[in-house]
Amino acid sequence: FQDRANLTLNDFEVFRTLGTGSFGRVVLCQHKETNKYFALKIIRKEVVIQLKQVEHTANEINLLRCIQHPFLVSIQYFFQDNSSLYLCLDFINGGEMFTHIHKNKYFSHSIARFFAAEIVLALEYLHNLDIIYRDLKPENLLIDSQGHVRVTDFGFAKRVKDKTWTLCGTPEYLAPEIILSKGYTRSVDWWAVGVLIYEMRSGHAPFYDPNQMEMYRKIVDGSLSFPVHFLAEEKSIIQGFLTCDLTRRLGSMKGGAEQIKEHPYFKEMNFKALLNNKIRSPYIPQVSGEDDDSHFDQYDEEDLFWDEEGKDPYEDIFKQF
Ligand code: AMP
Repeated sequence: FQDRANLTLNDFEVFRTLGTGSFGRVVLCQHKETNKYFALKIIRKEVVIQLKQVEHTANEINLLRCIQHPFLVSIQYFFQDNSSLYLCLDFINGGEMFTHIHKNKYFSHSIARFFAAEIVLALEYLHNLDIIYRDLKPENLLIDSQGHVRVTDFGFAKRVKDKTWTLCGTPEYLAPEIILSKGYTRSVDWWAVGVLIYEMRSGHAPFYDPNQMEMYRKIVDGSLSFPVHFLAEEKSIIQGFLTCDLTRRLGSMKGGAEQIKEHPYFKEMNFKALLNNKIRSPYIPQVSGEDDDSHFDQYDEEDLFWDEEGKDPYEDIFKQF
């Protein structure tokens, strides 16, 4: 990572939008000096302030600066101008897991298990740094050209030693203790892994309901049913994660991630080899080159607005970034 305060948007050729978030967009770009392609996450300062997300955004940037893991997106440069913050991330060109689940209707058992294993390793790494991720979902999981997962979007990630209370995340993936405003721990990420395995294998989240209040009721009640094609060990691990009682939830108890790795679902998984990039992915997206953006949806483009002139009206708020 390099803190290149001297960089500006002018140092990049900007192509198209790859995705949008609540505070801005992520665009494909090429750094003119090195010809390298990046995903540039542009966060509008004005919007961050309006939505009271200054602290979350500071968390995102600070955490990205200090993490380095094969299954997490890396930041290469950070810079800002009067209007926006710019996070220059490795461009992961296989697209969102979301797109791949829906293209295939759902993943096979072995593909879902492979991705689940990589996510367990990524979350174990974050939890060992006392970081709760808090926004696991298929839209935030990118697949690289070799078919490995890269977790992106650290907008809700936070360093927490014990409990935290902020209501954030995505409705389908919220753990019951978040909905019940109880104060929660890193165990909410393990709950979300249960939701994710279910979604990878069925194409939809387990408690989904068009009525959000009804969905929350189902989550809190833990009323779970499985499609007939789910295997016994899949149902068992999903049930282990989707346990409301924190003293019994898989991953929350003593042993944490180790206990998850020992579950029969992962019987054939060599986690050490996986971490050392010794296992070939069972799902390799077709990409034609470093700059292939065909796995990403098209978005309405808007003129990028940038402003290097004059005084930054938000200087005091973002000067420590
Ligand atoms: P975010 O606001 O971080 O959730 O990003 C919004 C969307 O932009 C994601 O859902 C992805 O589709 C896309 N995106 C984010 N980071 C990257 C990246 N490093 N490489 C490729 N696409 C990305």
